[in-house]
Amino acid sequence: MSASVTGVVFDIRELTIHDGPGLRTTVFLKGCPLRCAWCHNPEGWSYEPQVLRGPNGDRVAGHSYRADELASILNRQAPLLADGGVSFSGGEPLRQAMFLEAVLERLEGLHVVLGTTGFAPAEDFLRVVRRCDLVLFDLKLMDPEAHRRWTGVDNRLILDNLERLADSGLAYRIRTPLVPGVTDTDANLRAIARHVRELPGRPRVELLPYNQAAGGKYAACGLEWRPDYDETVPCRTDLTPFQELQVDARVL
Ligand code: SF4
Repeated sequence: MSASVTGVVFDIRELTIHDGPGLRTTVFLKGCPLRCAWCHNPEGWSYEPQVLRGPNGDRVAGHSYRADELASILNRQAPLLADGGVSFSGGEPLRQAMFLEAVLERLEGLHVVLGTTGFAPAEDFLRVVRRCDLVLFDLKLMDPEAHRRWTGVDNRLILDNLERLADSGLAYRIRTPLVPGVTDTDANLRAIARHVRELPGRPRVELLPYNQAAGGKYAACGLEWRPDYDETVPCRTDLTPFQELQVDARVL
């Protein structure tokens, strides 16, 4: 893959602790085909750099990097990331699969985690995950209609890619954001537990409590924050549906 292929990144965050094992640097790539009602990174939706307007002035979210340029930034951090590594998040990182692959090809001795919705063409998905040490795969809603309503896309492609990942033998975990009354319902968590129980390798499920700051960046993006659920209700963090089916689950 060419070193000169470029991609757009909206943040590079150092010392992250929730994007994989150990201390990590997380790269947030722009572009996402989903529109989750609880998304707290709306600046990750568009592939294009965009101006965020705030009380302290404007800033641009989105910087273009060449693959070799980003890889060398990350490689320079390798000594500090010996117990952790680098993670790629978004947005949906697979929206820039070619760029991501070109970056991954150039990383030297870094543990790589990919956080993905799984909503990507199968060929892109497999080409990229094969270069990763661990995949954190989002499973938000099992019911297809609810998935369309709350994320804007069907979950068929996601479930198919999850099967591909499970069959590949690569290390992976499931991630479920707990959104009050949407994803944290007993029915949804039980459906996820049943699905995961049947997956090869029976991966761990990591539940992510609702982010109360979810709406924080909408005004800066020129968008209105109007969640169609009651975010004042605390999300449920009930592990019972998983424990009953002997699925390893924990709340992060
Ligand atoms: S997949 Fe992630 S980045 Fe994309 S809309 Fe959903 S929460 Fe936001």
